Amino acid sequence: MKIYALFGITCVGKSTIGKLLSDRMGYDYYDMDDEIQEYYNDTLDNIYKDCCFPMSRDEKQAKVFSHILHKCKRDTIIAVSPMYYYKLFRNLLKNYSVICIELKDTPENIAKRVIFTDENDEIIVDDIGEYKENLRDVKYFIFRYKNTFAHLEWKFYIGGRSALDCADELEIILKASPEFWQDMFKRNKDEYMPVENPYEKYINYIIRRVQSEKSVPAYLASELEGKLGLKGFIEEILDNQMAWFESGSEADELTYILQKTSYKEEMIEIVLWFAECYQMKNNEISVYVDCLKCGYEKVFLKEGKELFMTYFVCEKCKTKMVEVYKDEQ
Ligand SMILES: [Zn+2]
Repeated sequence: MKIYALFGITCVGKSTIGKLLSDRMGYDYYDMDDEIQEYYNDTLDNIYKDCCFPMSRDEKQAKVFSHILHKCKRDTIIAVSPMYYYKLFRNLLKNYSVICIELKDTPENIAKRVIFTDENDEIIVDDIGEYKENLRDVKYFIFRYKNTFAHLEWKFYIGGRSALDCADELEIILKASPEFWQDMFKRNKDEYMPVENPYEKYINYIIRRVQSEKSVPAYLASELEGKLGLKGFIEEILDNQMAWFESGSEADELTYILQKTSYKEEMIEIVLWFAECYQMKNNEISVYVDCLKCGYEKVFLKEGKELFMTYFVCEKCKTKMVEVYKDEQ
């Protein structure tokens, strides 16, 4: 009995290709997302709702992965939902001698295929205007799962081809003797550029600010620059911030990151703040407030003179607006 597991980020095509391929090969097929919903008898949204940390989400997934592997009786293909912590499923792969294939495609090709589902897993058809946003998310996910998927032996490069074409080629590969696999899996590899660290721009900006900013308390600045290794430290905080966004957790962002790292609260605040300042500087944060002067609906959040202070600027008439909290005296 052979078990093939198709890995890859969301929307790369695991389910479609996996189903086609298993039909042709006459193998059993499991879609892990479907199995997860069946196992917990709920929608994915509800299942992950209480998962404050990516680890708890992964644990739920790994349990179902184990459950699927356990019930395999003959040759099988499994479309595996992305899990971040390799250590959670490493032993499963080994114990069941799973043949792992990572499906890869360029961020641009994947972003074109992204669709969203609502809380009942009904598909919400995506519009082209959201492509850019999708592309940013896809790049982030590729980067995030890069180290996890690096452990998987075989890489299949989709190169924007249709699921049918990919299933055709995978069928040929699976039927061939494994001694030829090394060469067969190489096709289309050259098109692939490594995905850059999405934090690079923030990190450089934050480092400059920490080093030059007078508003950063001196002891923090020296601690940040000194023993911690500034770049890695910032990256870890930003990574946990993204994980917090991703988990849909209701826990406070700062509390979440504090729990995941051992850094001082003030330092985490400074890093998050400077990351936000970068976005404010580049007009990346617009807020749903109408301009009080001209009524224009696009208003940007801007950094104020004092640390942690903000104001709004209308995109059209450039009027500055300050938010005043009446209760705070
Ligand atoms: Zn205005």
